[in-house]
Amino acid sequence: MSRRAEVLQEMGLAPVWIVKRKSVESEWQELKARVAGCTDCKLRAGCTRTVFGVGDHQADWLLVGEAPGAEEDRLGEPFVGQAGKLLDNMLFSIGLSRGDNVYIANVLKCRPPGNRNPEPDEVAKCSPHLARQIVLIQPKVILALGRFAVQTLLNTDATIASLRGKVYSYAGVPLVVTYHPAYLLRNLPDKAKVWADLLFAKRTIERS
Ligand code: URA
Repeated sequence: MSRRAEVLQEMGLAPVWIVKRKSVESEWQELKARVAGCTDCKLRAGCTRTVFGVGDHQADWLLVGEAPGAEEDRLGEPFVGQAGKLLDNMLFSIGLSRGDNVYIANVLKCRPPGNRNPEPDEVAKCSPHLARQIVLIQPKVILALGRFAVQTLLNTDATIASLRGKVYSYAGVPLVVTYHPAYLLRNLPDKAKVWADLLFAKRTIERS
Protein backbone atom coordinates (compact mmCIF):
# COMPACT_ATOMS: atom_id res chain seq x y z
CA MET A 1 0.00 0.00 0.00
CA SER A 2 1.32 3.48 -0.85
CA ARG A 3 2.16 5.91 1.96
CA ARG A 4 -0.71 8.12 0.77
CA ALA A 5 -3.16 5.20 0.94
CA GLU A 6 -1.83 4.30 4.42
CA VAL A 7 -2.32 7.85 5.67
CA LEU A 8 -5.85 7.97 4.22
CA GLN A 9 -6.64 4.65 5.86
CA GLU A 10 -5.29 5.84 9.23
CA MET A 11 -7.53 8.88 8.92
CA GLY A 12 -10.50 6.65 8.15
CA LEU A 13 -10.81 8.08 4.63
CA ALA A 14 -11.45 6.13 1.43
CA PRO A 15 -9.12 6.62 -1.56
CA VAL A 16 -10.03 9.69 -3.61
CA TRP A 17 -11.23 7.67 -6.59
CA ILE A 18 -13.76 5.80 -4.44
CA VAL A 19 -15.04 9.08 -2.99
CA LYS A 20 -15.35 10.52 -6.54
CA ARG A 21 -17.15 7.42 -7.87
CA LYS A 22 -19.58 7.54 -4.96
CA SER A 23 -20.46 11.13 -5.65
CA VAL A 24 -20.91 10.41 -9.38
CA GLU A 25 -23.22 7.51 -8.47
CA SER A 26 -25.28 9.79 -6.25
CA GLU A 27 -25.55 12.23 -9.17
CA TRP A 28 -26.88 9.34 -11.28
CA GLN A 29 -29.50 8.62 -8.65
CA GLU A 30 -30.51 12.30 -8.54
CA LEU A 31 -30.77 12.46 -12.33
CA LYS A 32 -32.80 9.24 -12.45
CA ALA A 33 -35.21 10.62 -9.86
CA ARG A 34 -35.46 13.93 -11.74
CA VAL A 35 -36.32 12.14 -14.99
CA ALA A 36 -38.82 9.82 -13.26
CA GLY A 37 -40.62 12.83 -11.79
CA CYS A 38 -40.34 15.10 -14.83
CA THR A 39 -43.56 16.68 -16.13
CA ASP A 40 -41.88 19.47 -18.11
CA CYS A 41 -43.60 18.54 -21.38
CA LYS A 42 -46.91 17.04 -22.44
CA LEU A 43 -45.52 13.54 -23.10
CA ARG A 44 -45.41 12.30 -19.49
CA ALA A 45 -49.18 12.45 -19.19
CA GLY A 46 -49.58 10.02 -22.09
CA CYS A 47 -46.84 7.46 -21.45
CA THR A 48 -46.72 4.55 -19.01
CA ARG A 49 -43.29 5.28 -17.57
CA THR A 50 -40.11 7.19 -18.32
CA VAL A 51 -37.31 5.27 -20.04
CA PHE A 52 -34.10 6.59 -18.56
CA GLY A 53 -31.33 4.63 -20.25
CA VAL A 54 -29.44 1.42 -19.63
CA GLY A 55 -25.89 0.21 -19.35
CA ASP A 56 -22.48 0.80 -17.94
CA HIS A 57 -22.13 4.19 -16.23
CA GLN A 58 -18.47 4.27 -17.26
CA ALA A 59 -18.98 3.01 -20.81
CA ASP A 60 -16.66 3.97 -23.66
CA TRP A 61 -19.66 3.73 -26.01
CA LEU A 62 -22.81 5.83 -25.74
CA LEU A 63 -25.56 5.03 -28.24
CA VAL A 64 -28.29 7.64 -28.59
CA GLY A 65 -31.65 6.91 -30.21
CA GLU A 66 -34.83 8.90 -30.63
CA ALA A 67 -37.56 8.02 -28.13
CA PRO A 68 -39.16 5.00 -26.48
CA GLY A 69 -41.63 2.99 -28.55
CA ALA A 70 -44.42 0.72 -27.31
CA GLU A 71 -42.17 -2.06 -25.98
CA GLU A 72 -39.76 0.38 -24.34
CA ASP A 73 -42.71 2.15 -22.69
CA ARG A 74 -43.96 -1.19 -21.41
CA LEU A 75 -40.61 -2.44 -20.09
CA GLY A 76 -38.82 0.79 -19.15
CA GLU A 77 -35.68 0.01 -21.15
CA PRO A 78 -34.49 1.56 -24.43
CA PHE A 79 -34.34 -0.48 -27.63
CA VAL A 80 -36.06 -3.67 -26.49
CA GLY A 81 -38.43 -4.01 -29.47
CA GLN A 82 -37.66 -5.16 -33.02
CA ALA A 83 -35.25 -2.29 -33.67
CA GLY A 84 -33.51 -3.12 -30.40
CA LYS A 85 -32.95 -6.74 -31.40
CA LEU A 86 -31.31 -5.54 -34.59
CA LEU A 87 -29.21 -3.10 -32.59
CA ASP A 88 -28.08 -5.89 -30.24
CA ASN A 89 -27.07 -7.99 -33.26
CA MET A 90 -25.14 -5.11 -34.77
CA LEU A 91 -23.32 -4.58 -31.46
CA PHE A 92 -22.56 -8.30 -31.27
CA SER A 93 -21.08 -8.19 -34.78
CA ILE A 94 -18.32 -5.91 -33.50
CA GLY A 95 -17.80 -7.71 -30.19
CA LEU A 96 -20.00 -5.51 -27.99
CA SER A 97 -23.11 -6.15 -25.95
CA ARG A 98 -25.52 -3.86 -24.13
CA GLY A 99 -24.44 -3.14 -20.61
CA ASP A 100 -20.84 -4.15 -21.22
CA ASN A 101 -18.89 -0.96 -21.92
CA VAL A 102 -22.01 0.34 -23.69
CA TYR A 103 -24.69 2.75 -22.50
CA ILE A 104 -27.93 3.24 -24.45
CA ALA A 105 -30.18 6.27 -24.10
CA ASN A 106 -32.71 8.26 -26.10
CA VAL A 107 -33.20 11.95 -26.77
CA LEU A 108 -36.72 11.69 -25.30
CA LYS A 109 -37.37 9.76 -22.12
CA CYS A 110 -41.13 9.48 -22.68
CA ARG A 111 -42.95 7.75 -25.52
CA PRO A 112 -44.62 10.11 -28.01
CA PRO A 113 -48.23 9.00 -28.62
CA GLY A 114 -48.56 6.52 -31.49
CA ASN A 115 -44.77 6.69 -32.00
CA ARG A 116 -45.07 10.04 -33.75
CA ASN A 117 -41.92 12.12 -34.27
CA PRO A 118 -40.61 14.15 -31.33
CA GLU A 119 -41.72 17.79 -31.42
CA PRO A 120 -39.20 20.64 -31.00
CA ASP A 121 -40.54 21.75 -27.58
CA GLU A 122 -40.31 18.15 -26.29
CA VAL A 123 -36.71 17.85 -27.48
CA ALA A 124 -35.88 21.23 -25.92
CA LYS A 125 -37.33 20.21 -22.55
CA CYS A 126 -35.91 16.67 -22.51
CA SER A 127 -32.46 16.98 -24.07
CA PRO A 128 -30.84 18.49 -20.92
CA HIS A 129 -31.35 15.06 -19.29
CA LEU A 130 -29.35 13.45 -22.09
CA ALA A 131 -26.71 16.19 -21.84
CA ARG A 132 -26.32 15.37 -18.14
CA GLN A 133 -26.03 11.63 -18.89
CA ILE A 134 -23.21 12.45 -21.31
CA VAL A 135 -21.37 14.51 -18.69
CA LEU A 136 -21.68 11.70 -16.14
CA ILE A 137 -20.61 8.90 -18.50
CA GLN A 138 -17.84 10.79 -20.33
CA PRO A 139 -17.87 8.20 -23.13
CA LYS A 140 -15.05 7.86 -25.64
CA VAL A 141 -17.51 7.92 -28.51
CA ILE A 142 -21.16 8.84 -29.03
CA LEU A 143 -22.96 6.95 -31.78
CA ALA A 144 -25.92 9.07 -32.88
CA LEU A 145 -28.61 6.76 -34.27
CA GLY A 146 -30.80 8.49 -36.82
CA ARG A 147 -32.15 11.92 -37.61
CA PHE A 148 -33.41 13.07 -34.20
CA ALA A 149 -30.29 12.10 -32.27
CA VAL A 150 -28.16 13.83 -34.90
CA GLN A 151 -30.33 16.95 -35.03
CA THR A 152 -30.31 17.23 -31.25
CA LEU A 153 -26.62 16.57 -30.66
CA LEU A 154 -25.15 18.30 -33.69
CA ASN A 155 -27.79 20.95 -34.24
CA THR A 156 -28.00 20.24 -37.96
CA ASP A 157 -30.69 19.29 -40.49
CA ALA A 158 -28.18 17.57 -42.79
CA THR A 159 -29.00 14.02 -43.87
CA ILE A 160 -27.47 10.95 -42.22
CA ALA A 161 -26.05 9.96 -45.62
CA SER A 162 -24.15 13.25 -45.91
CA LEU A 163 -22.85 13.12 -42.32
CA ARG A 164 -21.60 9.52 -42.17
CA GLY A 165 -17.90 8.67 -42.14
CA LYS A 166 -16.62 11.72 -40.24
CA VAL A 167 -15.93 12.35 -36.56
CA TYR A 168 -17.88 15.26 -35.05
CA SER A 169 -17.75 16.59 -31.52
CA TYR A 170 -20.41 16.97 -28.85
CA ALA A 171 -19.03 18.93 -25.89
CA GLY A 172 -15.57 17.57 -26.69
CA VAL A 173 -16.73 13.95 -27.04
CA PRO A 174 -16.13 12.39 -30.50
CA LEU A 175 -19.45 11.70 -32.21
CA VAL A 176 -20.15 9.36 -35.13
CA VAL A 177 -23.39 9.30 -37.11
CA THR A 178 -25.28 6.30 -38.43
CA TYR A 179 -28.77 5.19 -39.45
CA HIS A 180 -31.45 4.40 -36.89
CA PRO A 181 -32.11 0.64 -36.46
CA ALA A 182 -35.82 1.19 -37.26
CA TYR A 183 -34.76 2.64 -40.63
CA LEU A 184 -32.56 -0.42 -41.14
CA LEU A 185 -35.51 -2.73 -40.56
CA ARG A 186 -37.12 -1.10 -43.59
CA ASN A 187 -33.87 -0.93 -45.59
CA LEU A 188 -31.96 -4.09 -44.75
CA PRO A 189 -29.32 -3.67 -47.50
CA ASP A 190 -28.06 -0.59 -45.59
CA LYS A 191 -26.95 -2.90 -42.74
CA ALA A 192 -23.49 -3.00 -44.31
CA LYS A 193 -23.27 0.79 -43.99
CA VAL A 194 -24.13 0.66 -40.29
CA TRP A 195 -21.58 -2.08 -39.77
CA ALA A 196 -18.98 0.15 -41.47
CA ASP A 197 -20.04 3.05 -39.19
CA LEU A 198 -19.67 0.85 -36.11
CA LEU A 199 -16.16 -0.16 -37.19
CA PHE A 200 -15.39 3.50 -37.85
CA ALA A 201 -16.57 4.39 -34.32
CA LYS A 202 -14.44 1.54 -32.92
CA ARG A 203 -11.36 2.92 -34.69
CA THR A 204 -12.22 6.37 -33.34
CA ILE A 205 -12.07 4.96 -29.80
CA GLU A 206 -8.85 3.09 -30.51
CA ARG A 207 -7.19 6.28 -31.76
CA SER A 208 -8.30 8.31 -28.69
N1 URA B 1 -36.32 3.65 -31.07
C1 URA B 1 -35.57 4.52 -30.36
O1 URA B 1 -35.07 5.49 -30.88
N2 URA B 1 -35.35 4.26 -29.10
C2 URA B 1 -35.85 3.20 -28.49
O2 URA B 1 -35.60 3.04 -27.32
C3 URA B 1 -36.61 2.31 -29.26
C4 URA B 1 -36.86 2.55 -30.55
